[in-house]
Amino acid sequence: MLAMSEIALKDALVTLKESGVRITPQRHAILEFLISSESHPTADEIYKALEHDFPNMSVATVYNNLRVFRNAGLVKELTYGDSSSRFDFVTHDHYHIICDQCGTIVDFHHPGLEEVEHLASHVTGFKVNSHRLEVYGTCPKCANNAAAN
Ligand SMILES: [Zn+2]
Ligand SMILES: [Zn+2]
Repeated sequence: MLAMSEIALKDALVTLKESGVRITPQRHAILEFLISSESHPTADEIYKALEHDFPNMSVATVYNNLRVFRNAGLVKELTYGDSSSRFDFVTHDHYHIICDQCGTIVDFHHPGLEEVEHLASHVTGFKVNSHRLEVYGTCPKCANNAAAN
């Protein structure tokens, strides 16, 4: 049996192929890293994780590839506040809780916010495409650090 992440990678490669995107070893590695990583990495973090395997790759290359994935609908670019963009592999709709101290983003699931979309559409006459919800707080690690000091 294939692990979920292997299935996700296979599907992603099919999607890229269908949108006419050439699958280079770098693109393959970036996708694989994004799927296995649950930390919503920045382009810089992806670069640092892969630079050993791809000495000729630059942060700009990573960024360009992430843009290609985003345009193919595989990856979401998360911009919160003024920190650098973080990237999330799009598997299903989920929400984010963000640490005010260190910027860590953690996924969580909550059903039923489609009701909010329906209500918004109903009262404004808009055709709703999407919504965005972020929850902010202090992550357990930062809370521990604060308690220790
Ligand atoms: Zn934190
Ligand atoms: Zn996420």
